[in-house]
Amino acid sequence: MTLPFIEWLPKQRWYAGRSKKLISARPAVDVTLHEDIDLILVDTTYADGSSERYQVLVKWTSEPVTDGNPIAAIGEDAGRFGYDALHDPSAARHLMALFDSSATRGQVVFTKEPGVQLPVDASPRVSGAEQSNTSVIFGQAAMFKAFRRISAGINPDIELNRVLGRAGNPNVARLMGSYSTTWDGRPCPLGMMAAFAPNSAEGWDMATASARELYSEGDSDFCGESYRLGQAVASVHAVLADQLGSTAGEFPVDSALARLAVAAASAPDLAPLVPAIEARFNALAGEPTTVQRVHGDLHLGQVLRTSETWLLIDFEGEPGTPLEDRRRPDSTLRDVAGMLRSYEYAAYQPLIGQGSGKNEEPDDKQLAAAGEWIDRNTTAFCDGYAAASGRDPRAAHVLLVAYELDKAVYEAGYEARHRPAWLPIPLRSIARLLS
Ligand code: ATP
Ligand code: MG
Repeated sequence: MTLPFIEWLPKQRWYAGRSKKLISARPAVDVTLHEDIDLILVDTTYADGSSERYQVLVKWTSEPVTDGNPIAAIGEDAGRFGYDALHDPSAARHLMALFDSSATRGQVVFTKEPGVQLPVDASPRVSGAEQSNTSVIFGQAAMFKAFRRISAGINPDIELNRVLGRAGNPNVARLMGSYSTTWDGRPCPLGMMAAFAPNSAEGWDMATASARELYSEGDSDFCGESYRLGQAVASVHAVLADQLGSTAGEFPVDSALARLAVAAASAPDLAPLVPAIEARFNALAGEPTTVQRVHGDLHLGQVLRTSETWLLIDFEGEPGTPLEDRRRPDSTLRDVAGMLRSYEYAAYQPLIGQGSGKNEEPDDKQLAAAGEWIDRNTTAFCDGYAAASGRDPRAAHVLLVAYELDKAVYEAGYEARHRPAWLPIPLRSIARLLS
């Protein structure tokens, strides 16, 4: 096959190889899903010796597609034209039909979840969200996500959503199906179908809207939502523990220390705080705690408010960490801390770049207002969590602070490298957490 993937891939926004020099992009797997639809796994190699595998669903046509999305046109191969099938409504509907019949095509297996009714006649449209994958929304009912960068192993997003969905948990987007293949004898997940939450709002947008009003003398209360969010997170944790178990474990001191070293190398402002942070982590060595499967990368951007309730989405765990690490049981305080860190970001974000001077700090009044907002919402979130679970995350104060520190340290390293204007947010938090 001569489709020019080497030219096409770098133009796709989900392409992850931008920082490297691409040497080759060749189809390694080609499975016919339908007479005019192929599933192609493209292997890329880079000048630094690394490689990646991408999923491309190709719709074949006899004429070039001129009225569709120009970015979706891949090119010509032996007199036919290849087009990104996810952008083609009839092909997307055909993919839906494959889920509905739990079809097998070559090495590719589609699985519909038991008891699920798929919207087989709904019209598909590609989601406009800035994503590392590609999602197609069917009417108001379902969202199909095709993973772009493929790796072998168990995908925690499918794994945990399946457990939560089958247990009837109301705080996740119900998993409707998934599809996968194998790669060197290991399972290789390719994508998933989940219930779509129409007219939902992202937690981050709601929280920052509330926080912005703090600085314009407005009055908007997010505490009721924070309380319900705490309840939702607790309910997800309870089902994960119930279905997948919980065991004795420990705070991961070594990985926290390693992350601290990496962050301190990027953020010189962190240096004076390193000994105190290390002491906090080391003090937890050997301290027993309970661990279970958790979300792993929970923040306000991973929760959606529907007209009824809060949903937790994207159980992929922390991006950039190996799949095995992401599936490792951890304390539920990991997720609580992630959410509390997100409250700080939501409160301080409107203050970034506010002043006229480049490095102007927010004034004391603004900082006090932000601090109060954070306290109120932290309290509400923890109250909601405690009410639903019978376990107050604040009761394990030392451990919770350690998880918050671990996250804030990671943020400091990230901000120092990518968004120096934001660095004061985690630094301020680290100082407060240590005090
Ligand atoms: P990222 O690259 O940011 O991790 P992703 O490709 O993994 O993105 P998701 O995070 O699952 O994709 O979803 C992207 C966006 O689509 C979300 O931020 C959310 O706004 C929206 N979304 C995800 N799932 C649903 C759903 N079930 N119902 C409605 N909207 C959803
Ligand atoms: Mg994601």
